[in-house]
Amino acid sequence: MKPEPSHAAPTDAGHRKSIKPVICYPNSTLPAFDRASFNAARDGMVLKDQVMVEPRNASCFEVPAGQFFRISCPQGSQVGDLNLWNANDLDERFYSGKTRALHGTHVGIGDQLWSSFPHMRPLATITDDTLDWYQWDEFGGSVHDVIGTRCDPYTNRLLSNSDYHHCCHSNLIRALADHTGMSRQAAEPYVHDVLNVFMCTGFTLGTHQYFMKASPVRKGDYLEFFAEIDLLGALSACPGGDCSTSHSSEEASCHPLSVEIYDCPNGPPAGWTSPARSAYSGSHGA
Ligand SMILES: [Zn+2]
Repeated sequence: MKPEPSHAAPTDAGHRKSIKPVICYPNSTLPAFDRASFNAARDGMVLKDQVMVEPRNASCFEVPAGQFFRISCPQGSQVGDLNLWNANDLDERFYSGKTRALHGTHVGIGDQLWSSFPHMRPLATITDDTLDWYQWDEFGGSVHDVIGTRCDPYTNRLLSNSDYHHCCHSNLIRALADHTGMSRQAAEPYVHDVLNVFMCTGFTLGTHQYFMKASPVRKGDYLEFFAEIDLLGALSACPGGDCSTSHSSEEASCHPLSVEIYDCPNGPPAGWTSPARSAYSGSHGA
């Protein structure tokens, strides 16, 4: 937070503050989302697999390139913390900060989830969202953010001086370790900042602090993705439940989430090819 200033404003402060902002990363050069082609691929898609995520726990799932998957809310309001990796190289993982820089604080249909350096390519494209009606509320909040991190036992220890072992960070570690056969210590560095699925968040208008509020998600809602490369995912059903009150504890009412993986008999979207890694040479100059 910004404290009360201890330095006098310069005489041209008004001018400096009135300069209009420019977008840091104009994304108009990215390929436009071809909704018709994606919808043609989605028509007739067939449920191939389903993975349930128990409350206060996480599960892994795999999606081959060119197929769709949905994260859905099968019972009560519940938010999920999503990690994604290249299924063939766990060093390539979802990069929430760059996704935020390219698409904004909250993602929606047509936005892509980008991978870490030096790979930097879309891991997935968002193709449907039953909460797209929410847009923005009067508090500046919206759903599906890439501004939060994931609830974790370290911050909980820092702020409450207690230990809680079912934060999303720990849930994701256990799921990744169980899925890969790694130890939990080996799995922990692969767990990264998340896409907060269904979570309703923003920054307060006064102090610009990160806030959460009761998610508008209800039974039957889903967020749908197209896998751009072979994906390994892990989804945690956050101990915050609908995130209306608290997290990092057993206090909130929690519900399961579901991940459904769909086959596309119609084939992938017309003209689609799995994206290559960044063409940057990696030399970083002389
Ligand atoms: Zn969480």
